[in-house]
Amino acid sequence: MTTKANVLVTARSFGRDAPEPMERLRSEGFRILEWREGTGLGIYELKEKVSEAFAWIVGAHPVGSELLEKGLRLRVIAKHGVGVDNLDLHAATERGIVVVTAPGTNDQAVADLTIGLLLSLVRAIPKADASVKLGRWELFCGFGLAGKKMGIIGLGRIGQNVSRRAKGFDMEILAHDPYLPGEVARNLGVALADLDTLLTKSDIVSLHVPLMQETEGLIGRHEISMMKDGVWVVNTSRGKVVQEKAMYEALISGKVAGYATDVFEQEPPLGNPLLSLPNVVVTPHIGAYTKDALRMMGDRVVDRILRVFRGERPEFIINPEVYPLG
Ligand code: NAD
Repeated sequence: MTTKANVLVTARSFGRDAPEPMERLRSEGFRILEWREGTGLGIYELKEKVSEAFAWIVGAHPVGSELLEKGLRLRVIAKHGVGVDNLDLHAATERGIVVVTAPGTNDQAVADLTIGLLLSLVRAIPKADASVKLGRWELFCGFGLAGKKMGIIGLGRIGQNVSRRAKGFDMEILAHDPYLPGEVARNLGVALADLDTLLTKSDIVSLHVPLMQETEGLIGRHEISMMKDGVWVVNTSRGKVVQEKAMYEALISGKVAGYATDVFEQEPPLGNPLLSLPNVVVTPHIGAYTKDALRMMGDRVVDRILRVFRGERPEFIINPEVYPLG
């Protein structure tokens, strides 16, 4: 079969543990060019591959204008997931490159991990596990969830799924989301509040906003000072939504009882001081990393690339300005 076009894959998650979407691309006649983030390959090699690609499946690696200017044949960038904060959208749009995402494919997985992180934190599960494996038989006093208030910041797809799960634990939910129609929260049985009210009233704060100018550093020293003493904070959104230095200080002082996070200001978080704290639970940005979610994200990404290749308009375009009629 002759090759239709090249698809560059830099997302570390695409085609790895759910290979079917990548096989589908191959069987449709596309050639896969791989340059996986986090494997130590150089930027020169990446630029070369960008110059050969028609489509690019991205994960978290930064996609800036200096890479995009090499993409003379590049027509579509597909995010293997949601959240396009690592892409220079302006540069992509200027070059007529369509940027698409796969919303609605990983929200259940991220909500599961959020609850997993919360339970790990408040019941000290990682510490207890390590202790027993070291031959000890210690007691770890936990924090009960029933009857407690969870404040969800960002009540979108993931936030809503977290709220459903938290209700199953008999928690009371308060949410802050200035862009959400009030009806959605009402239907979920969730009370909406302004940010200050949520921060002052919640026993647990869970973050589910996209990273944008408005949300970068959203949780800093001032916001933490408004929180209850001994609050628990969970972050499965983006590392930069939290000012890590302020969080570190609050964890040391005990203002924040514990912080569980899947995401960091810099990833991987080599040398990050948060990693040295006993009241921090971490995972390596694996919120969306379940077989089900990977399969769904991969399928939607491939659907969208195939549509662009056929000259059709794909769904979930982030920069519709690239199309003449907007
Ligand atoms: P979504 O777009 O469905 O929901 C985001 C919600 O945040 C929206 O309802 C929006 O109105 C709200 N929002 C925007 N600005 C806000 C603000 N200033 N204050 C409060 N609310 C605000 O997106 P989603 O699918 O729920 O994903 C949310 C984010 O989670 C993504 O943007 C991504 O950064 C992150 N994420 C992380 C992982 C992971 O692996 N840990 C996986 C997927 C998504």
